[in-house]
Amino acid sequence: CGIVGYIGSRDAYPIVLKGLQRLEYRGYDSAGIALYDGENLNVCKTKGKVLDLKNKMEAENITEGNIGIGHTRWATHGVPNDVNSHPHYSNSGDLVIIHNGIIENYASLKQELTSRDYTFESDTDTEVLVNLIEDVKKKENVKLGKAVQIALNQTIGAYAIAVFDRNKPDEIIVARLGSPLAIGVGEDEFFIASDASPFIEFTKSAIYLEDGEMAIVRLGREVKVRKIQDDSII
Ligand code: GLU
Repeated sequence: CGIVGYIGSRDAYPIVLKGLQRLEYRGYDSAGIALYDGENLNVCKTKGKVLDLKNKMEAENITEGNIGIGHTRWATHGVPNDVNSHPHYSNSGDLVIIHNGIIENYASLKQELTSRDYTFESDTDTEVLVNLIEDVKKKENVKLGKAVQIALNQTIGAYAIAVFDRNKPDEIIVARLGSPLAIGVGEDEFFIASDASPFIEFTKSAIYLEDGEMAIVRLGREVKVRKIQDDSII
């Protein structure tokens, strides 16, 4: 399983797709990519190989966008199928997330969110997390980075995640606990991946997150790395 992301001025699609191919060695059962093209936030995902995903995306003509995230899934919660594949949208359709790992307390979080009218398309723990982030963001009226931080402090489990908001397409929030995550720093562009292999050809400058860290990766400024538990900061 693996995660890849790109934000900058190039086309995200070929970078994210090739990155997923480089991470295929990690093993997976499904793959998916989300791209925001300035107007639409498109998600394409499929059970099967990254090559199947490529064919589907090109057939559906979903290849535009300068911000994108991609995922190869090793199913833990919910069978391997198209719907359970990542990325997952939040209920509003504004946020998209990719996640490697497990949210152990997803059932109680899901119950709580369901009681407040959140609905779920998939059987994954991941779709619970993206809606928890959305719920926190609305309730607390905070920025995405802060919402991710508060939400993660309510979870038990392991993760590498990347999430972005279609209303703020200059920023990707990432976090890790128990699954690897690296950020490639280019000139006015950033790469995100489970290891450096997807971006090594573009930049030699990498930040490896430590367990318990998150980062705000925003165009036009330095990457901000913070402890997830240190809730005074973001
Ligand atoms: N727990 C998540 C799921 O089953 C992520 C699995 C993974 O690490 O790919 O969808």
